Amino acid sequence: MIVGLYGGTFDPIHNGHVHVITQLISRGLVDRIIVVPAGQPQLRDGQPHATGAQRRAMCQLAINSLPDDVKSKVEVNPIEILREGPSYTIDTVAAIAATYPEATVAVIVGTDAFAKVDQWHRSAELQELADFLVIDRPGAKTPGAIDIGALNISATEIRTQLEDQVPEAVAAYIKENNLYGR
Ligand code: ATP
Repeated sequence: MIVGLYGGTFDPIHNGHVHVITQLISRGLVDRIIVVPAGQPQLRDGQPHATGAQRRAMCQLAINSLPDDVKSKVEVNPIEILREGPSYTIDTVAAIAATYPEATVAVIVGTDAFAKVDQWHRSAELQELADFLVIDRPGAKTPGAIDIGALNISATEIRTQLEDQVPEAVAAYIKENNLYGR
């Protein structure tokens, strides 16, 4: 059994992320996906716009809007948001491995995130401990990465221009909570 760890800022979660989740499950590349919104993201400029609780809520709304056969294989885990101090993927992998002792943990990353993997905390150990599922993002094709026909969407874009690129329930949440200047 392969459990995918899909970490990210998810500020907000958008259809590009949802597409990754749906494709990996429906292609049988992973058996389960744990979506882990980051607490205090490393290697990023500035802090997230939405709080950890809000980013977690948006992830949950996005997962709830998936078809049942996909939804049943996906969960949102607040481990990094609830953790004090910085979040390191290696600690999250260890926690997931403890919950699913029979499983192989695969870290799901876009090519842009994977390009920085050597800067991650205890990177060599992490790469020993977990597999990496590297997903092509449009405009960032990398040899060896999986082409899922990724959508050309980024959270930065969504925050700066109103776009129809998040699940409906997430769009409603953004509006209700006056996030991203909406
Ligand atoms: P930002 O624009 O703020 O950098 P983002 O859209 O890249 O945000 P993150 O939350 O940082 O979102 O991304 C989480 C993970 O999802 C990363 O591994 C990233 O590479 C991947 N990802 C983000 N958008 C896409 C997309 N459209 N297609 C495939 N993978 C994506």
